[in-house]
Amino acid sequence: MDLVLFDLGGTLIDDPFEDVLREIRSDLVAEFRNWNLEENAVAEFLVSWREANLKSDHPFASHFLQEETWIAEALVNLYRARAIPPMQEIPLLSLTILRRYRELAAVQISNQTQLAALRQLLEWLRSGGTIVGVASNDREFATRTMLIWANLAKFMEWVFTSEGLSKQYAGAEKPAPEFFHAIFSELGRPVSAWDNVFYVGDSEKNDIIPAKSLGIRTVRFLNKKHPKNASWLDTTIASLAEYQCTEREQLQDIFRKALNDPKRESKTVSPG
Ligand SMILES: [Mg+2]
Repeated sequence: MDLVLFDLGGTLIDDPFEDVLREIRSDLVAEFRNWNLEENAVAEFLVSWREANLKSDHPFASHFLQEETWIAEALVNLYRARAIPPMQEIPLLSLTILRRYRELAAVQISNQTQLAALRQLLEWLRSGGTIVGVASNDREFATRTMLIWANLAKFMEWVFTSEGLSKQYAGAEKPAPEFFHAIFSELGRPVSAWDNVFYVGDSEKNDIIPAKSLGIRTVRFLNKKHPKNASWLDTTIASLAEYQCTEREQLQDIFRKALNDPKRESKTVSPG
């Protein structure tokens, strides 16, 4: 039996952050007008939000759906520079902005252009009897929601997140090997008991290196859209992965070769 697990962020779904920030601008201008703030305060806030998102990371952080902390940090910076918005407004204003961000992210994610090729790939994998799932460093609600928005949820037999796994398995967050150990405990079948296990990911450090060290075969997706300076991304080009690609459309060919390779044939037909 074959198993293919995918990382989510940057692998199946692209980061909607920059697209959403472009769109949210007009809503922010309207919101900031309540405090008689000129338009350049909005620009200043967006710079600060972007910086907070790029530089700070924390366990299970959902960069794609965002978290209140980064928005609140940017609002506090604005308060320090301009004494506005009033500090006591920040707890609720940050949630208003977060809500609008997520509304816009839902639209962005559901319209991402790579999804059609991915749905085709997942359907093809499943039609051949391959078990398919997602395993991501993220909050449980965020991964599950993004899969639904992207119309990918129906293909996934298994959904694992670092937040979900960590409730039962201490330290189950990539790149820690505990993340992958926890998954195979949950599957009830060790890596060695499958014909093929693949992990597909966009991060060399978080996906390829730890999966490979546990005997999982790896596919590295080199995502050209990644921001270059995010502390939580490993954009190293050189890869130890068995297979690499720069387009999602190439994944089906990779698996056609990988799942029919002669090693697999000889393994399944070799006499006792
Ligand atoms: Mg990723």
